[in-house]
Amino acid sequence: MLMRKIYIAGNWKMNKGLQETKNFLETVIPELNKLKLENVIPLIAPAYPFLEEALKGSYGSCMQVSAQDVSVHSEGAYTGEVSAGMLASLGLKYCIVGHSERRQYHNETDATVNAKILKLFENHITPLVCIGETLQQREEGKTENVILSQLSGCLKNIKLLSGEEIILAYEPVWAIGTGKTATPSQAQEVHNLIRNWLKSNYSDKVAEKLSLLYGGSIKPGNLQELLDCEDIDGGLIGGASLKEEDFLEMVQIGR
Ligand code: PEP
Repeated sequence: MLMRKIYIAGNWKMNKGLQETKNFLETVIPELNKLKLENVIPLIAPAYPFLEEALKGSYGSCMQVSAQDVSVHSEGAYTGEVSAGMLASLGLKYCIVGHSERRQYHNETDATVNAKILKLFENHITPLVCIGETLQQREEGKTENVILSQLSGCLKNIKLLSGEEIILAYEPVWAIGTGKTATPSQAQEVHNLIRNWLKSNYSDKVAEKLSLLYGGSIKPGNLQELLDCEDIDGGLIGGASLKEEDFLEMVQIGR
């Protein structure tokens, strides 16, 4: 019986200030504590200034905290950047990289993502790596090629021994923040492609252990059918992760 970890991961993007972060944690943590979760990992990714508050507020609970991005540099004259070492000094254990909004608005490439993964590994932080095709690429029948090329670009020279040291998220760009979710069969097809790529390029063990999240307009009403798919091990959730009750409902669905 496979026991991959299921992540219910909220990407808050540029939402929620200090007080809202505190309010979220004050509401959600006591409820999570009642659930006695075993295989489901709830995770939130607030903006940089509130990571420490989120870590403090979730201390001792099963809630995990992630950054939304990291610099490719270790330190120095890079105004506005935050290094993996700085994140590690907070005690942070997770960081999203390669989100399509970073690729779209900040020209990040698979090579950038690859460099960021290496920095995170050096600092013992688990990267949550996002990949996914645009609507145009899907309509032109290029989804498979795009996904395979993103996988080889992002994971170039990245050694994985158990599969648990990284998380991948398939996020079709056309489904992010649009209200359009991939159908379970569209999502499963790509997840299966990724799982098979991991088998061929790493090992059966890595492919079987690695949690593969789907992201793109997940909400409480459509999460179950996605989680029912064999190769979907949780969700990376934007908009619907901001409301305490929706987040909690999605964690319960993941159980
Ligand atoms: C995301 O930001 O990763 C995402 C999937 O957003 P949404 O759930 O709002 O589509």
